[in-house]
Amino acid sequence: MSILVFVEDWNGVYKKASFEAVGYAKSWASMIDAKVVAVTSTQAPAAELGGYGADHCIQIELGQTAMGIAGQLEALSSSASGVVIAGTSLGRSVAPALAALKDAALSTNTISLPLGTAPFQIKRGAFSSKSIETIELSGASPIISFVPNSIGIKVTSGEGAVETQEISSLELLKVIGTEVASGKVALPEAEAVVSGGRGLKGPENWGIIEELAEVLGAATACSKPVSDIGWRPHSEHVGQTGIQVNPNLYIAIGISGAIQHLAGVSASKTIVVVNTDPEAPFFKAADYGIVGDAFEVVPKLVNALRAFKAAS
Ligand SMILES: Cc1cc2nc3c(=O)[nH]c(=O)nc-3n(C[C@H](O)[C@H](O)[C@H](O)COP(=O)(O)OP(=O)(O)OC[C@H]3O[C@@H](n4cnc5c(N)ncnc54)[C@H](O)[C@@H]3O)c2cc1C
Repeated sequence: MSILVFVEDWNGVYKKASFEAVGYAKSWASMIDAKVVAVTSTQAPAAELGGYGADHCIQIELGQTAMGIAGQLEALSSSASGVVIAGTSLGRSVAPALAALKDAALSTNTISLPLGTAPFQIKRGAFSSKSIETIELSGASPIISFVPNSIGIKVTSGEGAVETQEISSLELLKVIGTEVASGKVALPEAEAVVSGGRGLKGPENWGIIEELAEVLGAATACSKPVSDIGWRPHSEHVGQTGIQVNPNLYIAIGISGAIQHLAGVSASKTIVVVNTDPEAPFFKAADYGIVGDAFEVVPKLVNALRAFKAAS
């Protein structure tokens, strides 16, 4: 028996969510006495995966699109007891495509390890993560797409055998070109995110967001209207219709906290809100709130953090 896990890399470097995915698969596999089979690209350092729980690594020339990769995973998972895919931007496209190809049950937005395997139950965020539901998945090979940073990484001492296979991919789309977002820290992977909204008044005021991000080693993000008006690039737009983030720290500055914004950020471990309006909805979702003018509060935060860093 095996649990198959898709392990994503970026230019030959594994993402944090990739190690988390392998650990997820290991925990599930140990519940049913199965092996963990990791599927990864030929460019990635597959041997590393043994240290996170992979028993066997299959390197393939990955397809260019989510549909192509899903077809390859379908071919490799015919006898698997389940499949694990991290809910990254790519993973969130691959998982439903694979579920359709395999006619298998899929849990997206999953935030727990399996609660039990017979029946197979899991917890997931529902209604834009406003509630948590427990669901039961039927069928021989359920697919789990989990929220990155919700389970954590587990380091083990194992070593996985690595082999290369040739699995062709049926591509219905062709990638003509790729533009890489320019931020210093990649937003979907960031441990900390500093995000600005319409309360910043204009693009010329983003210096304070960037300064705070720099001192924290954080990525920058923004609300949808901010990218719609062109103050910031669309690659920074977070929320229901943008990127979903799960950092350890999310600082929202001059953002009201509309439900569509919260849908993409509420999985963050700690949320700090800076807003002039004490009635702003975001304060209800905040762990820490500062009622104040961003143009006064943020420079003070930057100075305090710099002083703290210099002293420690
Ligand atoms: C179908 C649909 C999908 C959507 N998807 C998204 C999405 O993915 N992401 C998203 O963000 N939005 C999304 N929206 C839009 C969403 O409903 C809100 O309109 C949007 O999030 C508001 O952006 P904002 O908070 O930046 O602006 P505003 O609502 O204008 O809020 C600005 C905030 O800044 C505060 N403020 C003003 N001046 C200052 C100051 N000097 N210092 C500190 N605070 C100040 C104000 O009190 C206010 O709370 C979507 C809407 C729809 C209908």
